[in-house]
Parts: sequence; C-alpha cells; structure tokens
Amino acid sequence: PETWKRVPLAPPDSIFKLTASYKDDPFPQKVNLGVGAYRDDDSKPWVLPVVKKANQILLEDPAIDHEYLPITGLPAFTAAAAKLILGADSPAIAEGRVTSVQTISGTGANHLGAAFLSKYYDFNGDRKVYLSDPTWVNHFAIFRNVGIEPLVYPYYDPKTIGLAFDELVTTLKRLPAKSVILLHACAHNPTGVDPTREQWGKICDVFLQKKHYAFFDCAYQGFASGDLDNDAWAVREFVRREVPLLVCQSFAKNAGLYGERVGALHLVAPSQEAATRVKSQLSVLVRSEISNPPAYGARIVSLILNNPELFEEWKRDIKTMASRIIEMRKELYRLLTEELKTPGSWDHIITQIGMFSFTGISPEQSQALTEKAHIYLTQNGRISMAGLNSHNIRYFAENLDKVVR
Ligand code: PMP
Repeated sequence: PETWKRVPLAPPDSIFKLTASYKDDPFPQKVNLGVGAYRDDDSKPWVLPVVKKANQILLEDPAIDHEYLPITGLPAFTAAAAKLILGADSPAIAEGRVTSVQTISGTGANHLGAAFLSKYYDFNGDRKVYLSDPTWVNHFAIFRNVGIEPLVYPYYDPKTIGLAFDELVTTLKRLPAKSVILLHACAHNPTGVDPTREQWGKICDVFLQKKHYAFFDCAYQGFASGDLDNDAWAVREFVRREVPLLVCQSFAKNAGLYGERVGALHLVAPSQEAATRVKSQLSVLVRSEISNPPAYGARIVSLILNNPELFEEWKRDIKTMASRIIEMRKELYRLLTEELKTPGSWDHIITQIGMFSFTGISPEQSQALTEKAHIYLTQNGRISMAGLNSHNIRYFAENLDKVVR
C-alpha cells in the first residue's frame, strides 16, 4: 500500500473523455465534433480505397514476413516520405543532407525531435521551445517530458478570429537568437488559421535574421487544400532559404491510418556529414525507446508512395476528403449567414482551412451546445469539420444559432 502513495491521480485526457461521453449518449441526433478524425457523409470512419488496394497487394505478397524493420525504419518508406514533404526534386535530398527516421506517427516524430534537441541542441542555457498560442495541447507534455520548457508566442487573435500576424512577428524578433520555434506546416490545429504565403515569407525573414530553429509539425499534408504540394509550401520555402529545421510528418489523417501509427522525422542538416552524425544519434534514441518501428502501416504507405498508379489514386482520395470538408464549410456558412441570419460575422468558417474550425464561441456557449443539443466539442469552441455531414449540418447550425443569440 505504501509503494504508490505519492502518485497523484491525473485527470483524464479531455479529448478522449469527450469521445467517451459522446459514445455513452443515447440521444439519436447527437453529433461528435470533438475528435480530429475524418468521417464520411454517414459519420463513419473511411478506409481509403487506395489503402484497401495496398492492403490486398501486401496480403498476396509471398515475400512479406514479420521480421524486424531496421532501427530507423523501412528505407523505401522514409525515402519516399522525405520526397513527399520536401519535394521530389529537393536539392537538400539530392545533396544527402536530409536525415529521415520512421516514427510512431506524428506524436512519435514530435517526441523524437524534441528528445534529440533536448540532448544535442545548443540552447545556450535556455531550454525552451516556443509554441503557437493556442496549439495542439499534446505539444506541451511532449516537450516537458524531455526537459524542455514550453512557452507560447502570439498566434490567434480572438477579435478577428484570424492570425495575430504583427504580434507574432514582433515576438519572434524579440526572442533570444537561435530560439526553437514550433510551426504548424499547414492546417493549424486547433484554429484552422494559416499564414498566407506572403506572411510565411516574412516569418522566414525573421527566422533568418535571428537564426531561429524551425520545428515544423506537419500532421495534415493534403488536408488543408486537397493538394499535397500546396500544403508543403511553407516547409519547402524554409528549406530553400536554408533555415535550420526539422519536420514531423504524420500519415494518420491523409492516409486514414490513425491506429497504424505511421510517421517520420526529417531533419535537414547543413551537410551530408552532419546528417550522418545526426542519424547515428537518432538511431541510438530509437533503439532505447522502441528498438525499431512497426512495419505494417509503413509498408502500406510505402506501396502508395512508390507506385505511380497508387499515388495518383491516393491524391484523388485526399481530394475526396478535403473537398467534403470544404463543402461543409460552405454549407455551414450559407446556413448561418443566409438562412438563419445568425448574428455576428462567420467569414472565418470559409477562410479557415483543414480539419478544424475555431468558431469563436465562448466556453459557456460550447457547453450549452453539449448540454442542450448533445453536440460534443472542446470548450475552446473548436469543431472538427469532418464531424459535419449532409444529415446533421442543419441541426448543428440551428443549435449554434440558438446559443449565440
Ligand atoms: N501534431 C498535430 C498538430 C496534430 O493535430 C496531431 C494529431 N491530432 C499530431 C501531431 C499527431 O497525430 P498522430 O500521432 O496521430 O500522427
């Protein structure tokens, strides 16, 4: 009885708790706008047709066994994943300056990147990382876990429900030189607010002036615009302008492989020789933590990325998901502004991008939606657009209208 006396009870994870409450609710018209997972028009998880095909190919391949992968993962997967995010014609890849390691999805990539920086980045006594305010909540715990203190920089302006661009740039300029700054590559979670290309350019200027380190988190490539290259633009621009950086990559959303945990960490080093040293230490970290990554999901993604026909099909599947979300944005906007004449401005519903939308409603209004209408969303007013569909969008719009009046 003495042994664990000093272990405090931790609160349950808010998002997973929300999903549990939703599942327990017997109300037939209940709506789940909490979790960031794609749903089809019938609120069902969607196995991408291209994933089904790749699966079939794997099943029939007599060469597939269950041996361990190398410590840094399936080489055909990591090489193709690097090209996907950095561009097939990336000079950094051609020069051998990119180190790529397979990870436990995007979370594992964030962890490995953070653990590596914790051990080897020259923090100058200041072990801090700067996160956007707000950000994916797990970022805080991931950095704290490896002894890096998370602080925030201004990002979202509640007055405009948009980017606090001037405050963001002013703050980045004020931070100590060589600060580590986390950036969402596209489809910012939770706000759905991304900088424009012009704004990215100016942010990049500050990174170069101040020699900041860019820690890119890319969990939604393809989800923002429906176009893989378009959504990788900011990362490629920073690489082109030689900002020192790493990128965390997830295939959870864009390949619908949430539970298979497929991801990668790519670090762009100044030289091939530096990349080799970095990779050797990433291997040491991976070996002690997971020994080697899981094979199945990486094989699926590798097939898709390396087979031109499957790759084209994947791009169509991504368009299907992104287009449905964009349609839902337009329809919600139409219902609120034209039909219901809901008070306030709702332009942000169509200007925001990706899986999530920050509605701008208060915690009280969010709670009222859950209590009165069985609509589940996080307290910050974030909704997963993928939870809306042709059957429930009117119900949602009408109840949103009620709580803001
Ligand atoms: N980063 C961000 C910004 C995310 O939104 C997510 C998913 N919610 C992740 C990383 C990691 O997701 P996963 O580990 O499932 O790839």
